Amino acid sequence: MPNHSPTHLDPRSPLVLDTRELPRRPGAMRTVSRVVPAPADLGLELIGVPEGADLTLDLRMESVSEGVLVSGTASASVAGECSRCLRPVSDSVVVTIQELYAYEHSATVETTDEDEVGRLQGDLVDLEPALRDAVVLALPANPLCREDCPGLCPECGVPWDELPAGHSHEQVDPRWAALSQLKPSNKLNGK
Ligand SMILES: [Zn+2]
Ligand SMILES: [Zn+2]
Repeated sequence: MPNHSPTHLDPRSPLVLDTRELPRRPGAMRTVSRVVPAPADLGLELIGVPEGADLTLDLRMESVSEGVLVSGTASASVAGECSRCLRPVSDSVVVTIQELYAYEHSATVETTDEDEVGRLQGDLVDLEPALRDAVVLALPANPLCREDCPGLCPECGVPWDELPAGHSHEQVDPRWAALSQLKPSNKLNGK
């Protein structure tokens, strides 16, 4: 079971931001620019950021009265497969992050739910949930190798664009044709 306990963030984890250097004074600001390895399963079933791929974070941490506002972008390459022809698809994704993390024991924490407003854990911010949400929203549920990908021939499973024009399975060996004519009555008997 993955550990979802909110109280044990590792400050060395690439997606944990440390706000110790950020004065708790509204308006104070720090930038975070780093390239980190992408965590596992960042994306959707058919397309996502490969685990360990470069994830470029360009973020700004800003003190506000009740916490820290983290905003900026995360970008990475993505890889997956075409939902029509199953061939590899590669692309890149840039997501915008804007998330407020409330100070522990602040009024915001007492008046909101954890899924409405993020929480600082001590001086640490866990960026991963917001990053995951943003990446999932930015990726296509049905990726395509190209807009007009014609997909696969349902009979032989070969991509249509690799088949000769006029490809068809209607003209079959006459002996098989005779068999296929028997099929409908077989089906009726079988029911
Ligand atoms: Zn395709
Ligand atoms: Zn075919």
